[in-house]
Amino acid sequence: MKQVVLILVLFINLPVMAQTKDSAKYVLVIHGGAGTILKKSMTPEKEKAYKEGLQKALDAGNAILKKGGTAMDAVEATVKVLEDNPLFNAGKGAVFTNEGKNELDAAIMDGKTLKAGSVASVTTIKNPITAARKVMERTEHVMLIGSGAERFAKMNGCVMVDPSYFHTKERWEGLLKARKADSLNAANDSTKKALKQPGNRDDKYGTVGAVALDIHGNLAAATSTGGMTNKRFGRVGDAPIIGAGTYADNNTCAISGTGWGEYFIRLVMAKSVSDRMELAKMTLDDAAREMIMKKLPALGGDGGLIGVDKQGNITMPFCTEGMYRGYIKSNGETVIKIYKED
Ligand code: ASP
Repeated sequence: MKQVVLILVLFINLPVMAQTKDSAKYVLVIHGGAGTILKKSMTPEKEKAYKEGLQKALDAGNAILKKGGTAMDAVEATVKVLEDNPLFNAGKGAVFTNEGKNELDAAIMDGKTLKAGSVASVTTIKNPITAARKVMERTEHVMLIGSGAERFAKMNGCVMVDPSYFHTKERWEGLLKARKADSLNAANDSTKKALKQPGNRDDKYGTVGAVALDIHGNLAAATSTGGMTNKRFGRVGDAPIIGAGTYADNNTCAISGTGWGEYFIRLVMAKSVSDRMELAKMTLDDAAREMIMKKLPALGGDGGLIGVDKQGNITMPFCTEGMYRGYIKSNGETVIKIYKED
């Protein structure tokens, strides 16, 4: 009799169980930087390489989310793949400072707990995003910088590398070009305009980021960058600043930004999107578009962002010529785009 009851209970619950499984939805969205990315200046080989790089990153995060893994694990793994790819301005392939160094910034945030970790101006941590996560999980702090962050990363098992690991020919040439443009600006401008410029606008793209919603309903965001070409004086951008380039809150959204960091900091970009949703009851897309397409250019900045909300809605606005971007959903839908007209 007991067995019959058990079978009956199972039978009755079957549709419910199936439904729970089907609705276990996840979303992963990525970017590989916004900037002057024009189809006419891209070769088919380069375009293919970028798309393959983005696909590999999506695959890494998807493998985790598919198995019921967390959004935090997925965004870290995804960003790590992009950091290891020299095409992008994060980890290997990062842009150079004016002094010819690669100084890296990264942040990660957990939407469930609002815990966050970040590192800035690090030069010897192979994957800054992993160090950022360790800051979040193993310290009472949110942000560690420079040699202190490096000491912490080493003590906590991060892979450390010689600074030369980050050097790539393309980025070095980008610096030489930017330095030349800056010295021309300085020569033409008695106010020494070059000192005011955070970096070269044309060579700045390539920052990477990922945001995810996992099947447990949790959101997470991660961003990693080399910053802006030719940056000086220990400049730190928006990426490692929680609320500016990176933010996640289960009540609203997860955001990762890319663009002219100074403007993202001044607009508190990522948190402003979240606030518009929470306080003004705007949708994710409306909130993100208002910030990126109106507020950002109105102030003189540019860039883009990726976002996902707790329902799995996606946004990927940018006010530049292009933004490397893409997403994958639990139903398998995959999109990878580069240009404005895509
Ligand atoms: N937002 C980054 C920074 O300002 C650069 C970028 O996204 O291209 O450091």
